[in-house]
Amino acid sequence: MPSPNLPRVFVLLLLSVTAGAQGPDASKGMANDRFACGSQPVAVKEFGRVCAPRVILTHVRIVDGTGASAVDDQNVVIEGGKITAIQKGADVPAAKGTAVLDLHGHTVMPGIVGMHNHLFYIVRPNLDSRRHFDNPVVVPQMTFSAPRLYLANGVTTMRTTGSVEPYADLNLKVDIDAGKLPGPHLDITGPYLEGSQSYFLQMPHLTSPDDARQTVEYWADRGVTSFKAYMNITRAELKAAIDAAHKRGIKVTGHLCSVTYKEAAELGIDDLEHGFFVNTQLDPDKKPDVCSESAGEETLARMDPSGPEAKDLIAMLVSHHVAVTSTLPVFEGDVGGARPVLRQQALEAMTPQAREDFFLLRQPRVPPATPKIDPALLWKHDLELEHAFFAVGGLLLGGPDPTGRGDVLPGFGDQREIELLVENGFSSLEAIKIATLNGAVYLGRDKQIGSVAAGKNADLVVVKGDPSTQISDIENVEIVFKDGVGYDSHKLLDSVRGRYGQY
Ligand SMILES: [Zn+2]
Repeated sequence: MPSPNLPRVFVLLLLSVTAGAQGPDASKGMANDRFACGSQPVAVKEFGRVCAPRVILTHVRIVDGTGASAVDDQNVVIEGGKITAIQKGADVPAAKGTAVLDLHGHTVMPGIVGMHNHLFYIVRPNLDSRRHFDNPVVVPQMTFSAPRLYLANGVTTMRTTGSVEPYADLNLKVDIDAGKLPGPHLDITGPYLEGSQSYFLQMPHLTSPDDARQTVEYWADRGVTSFKAYMNITRAELKAAIDAAHKRGIKVTGHLCSVTYKEAAELGIDDLEHGFFVNTQLDPDKKPDVCSESAGEETLARMDPSGPEAKDLIAMLVSHHVAVTSTLPVFEGDVGGARPVLRQQALEAMTPQAREDFFLLRQPRVPPATPKIDPALLWKHDLELEHAFFAVGGLLLGGPDPTGRGDVLPGFGDQREIELLVENGFSSLEAIKIATLNGAVYLGRDKQIGSVAAGKNADLVVVKGDPSTQISDIENVEIVFKDGVGYDSHKLLDSVRGRYGQY
């Protein structure tokens, strides 16, 4: 939802930042400058809003990310990049080195941990009004715009979930961590582990299990912290990759097709992408190690979510500790209707060309396309399976997969994933947990991030409103704290206006 009043809100925040060091006579504008991040590294200087040694968020509602009920009127104390105390809401007198923010009417929640995020975009050359385009489809790196869009929209940690420019991604992480560039904490996924062919030219093609092992070792040596297998990998290659990764304590996920979910779980995979959309175990033409024609749609259509096959699959995934990543935004457009709802801020982030492509891909086909399998049935079955997996204690993660028709954008898509979970029967508190704490648990970082609790990193999102009762309020991001520094969401968005789709 657009928020026409944002500038006014910011003025209020500005006015409420107090600086005891300058005494009661300091003008309110000057008081803010006291915390204007001037002496910080360049990205913090440019986009930081709150950089005081001690920050107190007063009178704020907390949605803590654990699934617990929202708690109204609290104070959150941040020191040295960490949350040091959570107290009953109270006015706090100005003190030297302390920024006090009056957050009546606002909610603080954990920073989003995006588990199917990307640092690239998809281009279809010569796309026209009949939706024809030329090959090859390419995926340009979005190193400039994507990290800003993620951070602006409340993503403080993300997995890159398959890299097309691994050196750029690795160096980006170094520069973000040093404060030279704005962006979330990054779990860098290595190049896609793909078999002998792929839809995307920019993926390496493994030739053997030994090649898979060497690829994992090479990139792990260079700092990659996760891997993703892709649609045409063989079981033997996947096994070699998983074993090599696990030897170094690195996890492997997969957008699979040639290997079924059960086969992958048996081989030790840690996570499966795209909910239950790409499991191929019941595809009628499925042959071992070969991707099937429907790439999993036949299986999803045939699998009764409350039937024995579904129960057996879910029990097996849970017993093997395999997580599942829900990526609803990338499928939303297939379901029909005017989906997703257009969001002005997202349109403004795109280049004119990206916007044009987005509208060309969005218009209905004439004559209407008649898919072999009803997308609404697939959507329904997937959601029921995700619910069933979650209900028996499966670790359900969330991420947007910002690709598709160009209507899923970094950051905006992470918020949309949460909204779609709620639209499909998860409570707001469950959906926020899936998008925050569950990701932290998967990454093994839940002692540091993923919930609002004393002792954890101050990776927090301040939104106007109350997402625990109205989930679309997660779109009203004002300030995003990362390691205790409060970034200005609007300034970040302004800096990438008209850029997404270019660089
Ligand atoms: Zn993806």
